[in-house]
Amino acid sequence: MGLGVRSRSALLSQSYTQIQTYDSGERNLASLPKILVIGAGASGLAFALACAHRGLKVRIIEKRPERSRIQKATGIAQSVWQQLAPYGVTASLIDRALPMKNFVFRDDGKLIANVRVPLVGNEPAAHLLPQAQLEQAMEQALFRMGVKVEYGTSFSGLAQSELHAQLILIRDAVEVENIQFDWIVGADGANSEVRSILRTPFIGRDYPEQWTVSEISTKQWPTEVQAQLFLSTSGTGLFLSHPSPGIVQGIMNAPSVGAALLAHFPDGAIQYERQFVVSLRRVQTPRVKRVWLIGDAAHTQSPVGGQGLNLAIWDGTTLGNALINGDMSVEATLSNRAKRVLFFTDFDYRMLSTKSKFIRKLRNTYWSLACRHPFLSRWFFKLISGAW
Ligand SMILES: Cc1cc2nc3c(=O)[nH]c(=O)nc-3n(C[C@H](O)[C@H](O)[C@H](O)COP(=O)(O)OP(=O)(O)OC[C@H]3O[C@@H](n4cnc5c(N)ncnc54)[C@H](O)[C@@H]3O)c2cc1C
Repeated sequence: MGLGVRSRSALLSQSYTQIQTYDSGERNLASLPKILVIGAGASGLAFALACAHRGLKVRIIEKRPERSRIQKATGIAQSVWQQLAPYGVTASLIDRALPMKNFVFRDDGKLIANVRVPLVGNEPAAHLLPQAQLEQAMEQALFRMGVKVEYGTSFSGLAQSELHAQLILIRDAVEVENIQFDWIVGADGANSEVRSILRTPFIGRDYPEQWTVSEISTKQWPTEVQAQLFLSTSGTGLFLSHPSPGIVQGIMNAPSVGAALLAHFPDGAIQYERQFVVSLRRVQTPRVKRVWLIGDAAHTQSPVGGQGLNLAIWDGTTLGNALINGDMSVEATLSNRAKRVLFFTDFDYRMLSTKSKFIRKLRNTYWSLACRHPFLSRWFFKLISGAW
């Protein structure tokens, strides 16, 4: 399933004009900063793309020997497609992604709402696509711009002055380079080593539950729906999405999501299941002298509301463009956006996991009304689309 001709061309039109300026040689490369990105997940790749697109060949290191195949996010916001359009990523993927049209919401088995997701600015608010496919396309686009991810590479001995940062690159447990950069970008995920070396407080709290995520293959997913939410009096929420044909992903704020998936799809075969903990945390400021933190290294949040990947990519492209333009007000911009997104995802989590009879009633009434009067939920889907 793909976008209609009109919406597809709208998402791609930005790409046309901006690709014109790529590699135009309009900049004096010697005057551009020398930058190292640590971590080739979504945030690091987005940052590197924004820089490489403007003619700056950053280095990007990744400690894994190859790209991770583990699926995390499935919902890609409209704003992310727009941000990645200039790099050719949107054009290469959008026909494979499933536009978010309907989601169904049940409480203790009872149907509360079958929500028709409104278009935002004539485009779907989000599309479903496995995060690994998006990252692979981002890496390929980066490669076309002449930047290759340096796999199997980590670092130690990070030190910095007001003007430079210096560290040692490590490959196969051997120190291979002692090198100085103008900027270092820590895009190394929720357990960021960069953040811990900087001793930057990661303020917030951990959610109490053990979460699980699993994917199954099944032929029983109803094709007219892209996501389903099963809530319950006990505060357990099971979120199901359909990131690609024949595959269903389940995320639950409780153990054994695989068994819960099989209860809904008896023909299912579990591809993987894993446990994770969820925290609501952020750094107070994303910069310490010459080092920036972006993506999960700068903020972590509940997967409810589906914003982690989207915010990680926004962080990357926003910081990349700002550093090239010498716009240091980006420090406050990144921080403010993270605060707002974390507030939203925490609100969503509380609504999903509440055990209060009163709040459940209010929540369910709101969504069943929103089904009949779509204007009531427009603000919600606008945020899902990334229009913060
Ligand atoms: C189950 C689950 C479901 C989710 N669903 C959604 C969703 O639907 N929508 C959404 O928007 N978000 C979702 N998220 C969140 C989203 O996946 C993350 O927010 C996103 O991956 C963050 O990207 P990142 O690049 O900041 O970090 P990561 O993806 O963690 O990438 C960090 C990279 O840095 C590398 N690295 C670490 N240390 C070093 C080092 N010392 N040297 C070099 N490299 C290093 C790691 O190997 C990794 O490749 C979900 C998360 C989970 C767990």
